[in-house]
Amino acid sequence: MYNTGFGKFSGYTYENMKNDLELFEKIFPENLEVDSLGKTADEREIFHLVAGRKEAEDKVLIFGGIHGREYMTSQLIMEQTAEFLSAVSKGRKSSRGESYETLLEGKAIHIVPMANPDGVTISQLGPGGIRNKKIRELVWQIAKEEGGRLPCGPYFTRWKANARGVDLNRNFDAQWEIYEDMKGKPSSRQYKGRAPECEAESAALAELTRRERFKRTVSYHSSGAVIYWNFGQVGELYRQSRRFAGRIAAATGYDLEESYDSLDPAGYKDWALQKLQIPSITIEIGRAGSPLPACCFREILRENRTVWEETLYSITEEKESRKKGRNREKELPGHRAAPKKGED
Ligand SMILES: [Zn+2]
Repeated sequence: MYNTGFGKFSGYTYENMKNDLELFEKIFPENLEVDSLGKTADEREIFHLVAGRKEAEDKVLIFGGIHGREYMTSQLIMEQTAEFLSAVSKGRKSSRGESYETLLEGKAIHIVPMANPDGVTISQLGPGGIRNKKIRELVWQIAKEEGGRLPCGPYFTRWKANARGVDLNRNFDAQWEIYEDMKGKPSSRQYKGRAPECEAESAALAELTRRERFKRTVSYHSSGAVIYWNFGQVGELYRQSRRFAGRIAAATGYDLEESYDSLDPAGYKDWALQKLQIPSITIEIGRAGSPLPACCFREILRENRTVWEETLYSITEEKESRKKGRNREKELPGHRAAPKKGED
């Protein structure tokens, strides 16, 4: 037996999420549907939830857990789901005085709380958490090549990729070809894969997005307490995404990164902006390094409390602005200088 250096894990796991989802379906039968977008290499479900009406005209996507070590984003999204749906069913009012029920009218929130459950499991439990022997051996192989010395706890804890060693947030078709990942082969982080969407998880997210044509997307990552939104888009898309990001920065108190990240493309947000013209942002929660310590959770939850309603308001605002003909505002400049640091 290998000594992986892992003790009993007390953070939010794939199994915890599965149990919570069963519970949610019982508590919120009116406003929640749960299904799966498919299975990962190690046969975990990529769960997908819809809050509100599936046939709604205005749909948004909120997802997290695409990087293994960022599982606090999954815990956050599950907690946000519970809070939002109980606010709807209890007739509570939003921070702007409107009832949550009214807020959700004609809208649907699509949720993928844990886009990379295999990677989350590796970060939490090490390779021992991977059930398929071949894939488990691949993970060990990667660790060996990357110098993860025994006990390997710290190396696996910081795992970002999926169980096949592909960094899912470098696997989307947005400047993928020109992106040099500096790895060129399966790794715990950064390897972009053989082709865009070659992995079950990234393909599932892209497929869902092409099918549903979201009006906004929110990618939750950790960490940095910062919002990314600029992929060099121009004109109306620039204006809308900048305004959306500004709204979320104000709600969370996180920094708004204005610069255009030309160093690390091929992420989901980049693709949604470039290929589908959807105003899309990345929210990096937390200020400590990933994985974030459990003690950060309450504060992060508080900071992100109104993100869902602000995302829905962002659509309403755009519609109203269109009605008033204010959408002919002067265009803001598109490209900016490279950022100080990349997305996590
Ligand atoms: Zn990330």
